[in-house]
Amino acid sequence: MKAANRDFTREVNLFNILNSIREAGLISRVEIAKRTGQSRASVTNITALLIEQKLIRESKPHVNPSRGRRRIMLSLNPEAAYTVGIKVSAFRLSFAIVDFIGEVKSSLSIPFRVGERRESVLVDVIEDGVRHCVDDARLSLQDISGCGLAIPGFVDSATGTCLWNPLKKGESHIRALLSEQLGMDVYLENDANSVTVASQWFGLGKGIDNFLVVTIEHGVGMGIVIDGKLYRGQSGIGAEFGHMVLVPDGAPCRCGKRGCIEAYTSDSGILLHAKKRLASRRTTRPNLDTLAIEDVTDLARAGDKELRKVFRQGGEMLGRGIAGLIQIFNPERVIITGEGVRAGDLLFTPMKRALKKYVNEEQAKITEVVIQEWSDNDWARGAAGFVLGELYKSPLNKIHRSG
Ligand SMILES: [Zn+2]
Repeated sequence: MKAANRDFTREVNLFNILNSIREAGLISRVEIAKRTGQSRASVTNITALLIEQKLIRESKPHVNPSRGRRRIMLSLNPEAAYTVGIKVSAFRLSFAIVDFIGEVKSSLSIPFRVGERRESVLVDVIEDGVRHCVDDARLSLQDISGCGLAIPGFVDSATGTCLWNPLKKGESHIRALLSEQLGMDVYLENDANSVTVASQWFGLGKGIDNFLVVTIEHGVGMGIVIDGKLYRGQSGIGAEFGHMVLVPDGAPCRCGKRGCIEAYTSDSGILLHAKKRLASRRTTRPNLDTLAIEDVTDLARAGDKELRKVFRQGGEMLGRGIAGLIQIFNPERVIITGEGVRAGDLLFTPMKRALKKYVNEEQAKITEVVIQEWSDNDWARGAAGFVLGELYKSPLNKIHRSG
């Protein structure tokens, strides 16, 4: 075998072993050999290297009840590496530092009007946020192996350029600027794709080869995993489920078209429809200038019939759209997540009704639609998890250590 081929085979074997430890959580060398199809000798050699590099560690012997033998188990070393994730939203920047198993070590969320500030100011504020989080986690910048920047819009992740972004007009140099100021690799990725990759590595997508993630927030995003790989389409832009038109000449959308799913289902879409309905009321009208999506959700939950209709419409559109996705992709699981999940039954009861109506019975039986609770730092965690995924592919080259 040529040296280059031998190195490549070794790299693949190493990745497969690391991956089976990640998937199992706690696993013996014998079980790794069984799962990866590698020889016991190869598993012994490679795990020795991984232990030496402090990527994995041996745990207390585990007694196998059927055989009564004590077996040494292996697990990932959470302290092997750290990554930082940043999510840039219209009015907010959020940050999270995660360890090697995707656990959040520190997080931060600050209000920031992205569209109204110069890019250099944005980069300075991000740098400060990262430094604060690193301190908070009792780490130093040198401990961080990479930074993931998640933004809404069309991102060509291969070149790290942003092709269209609903937050800011004009060309963006954010990745290069941030990389220079932080002195580390910065990965720019579409926000929904980051969450999708993170859920594939550490969340509800773990161990599933075909699944979809639909994110509801200010916009509606989507990530597609086919045969274990993130699908990006021909030009790397990825899936813009939110901008699929369901209503010809319907409600105006942020993208410039009309009748997109996003215009009905997203937080911004629902808020707009709610304001329109409330504007015509003479009595008991809340202040429309300060009305937020949380207020609209509370009013609907308290029984406001018209606002419940707005959510019903959003849920119906979402269900119709997802039904189409299920018919096309035949996924094992569809994960719905994002801040919009706060609407709960207001949105998801009509969505489920639409799914029942529009998905073939056979396909409905084998497709699981899961609604995943959302916490404030999940976007940033997704961005950090995306970078972890990159580290796993080539851990010996990419992990930084300050010590
Ligand atoms: Zn649109």
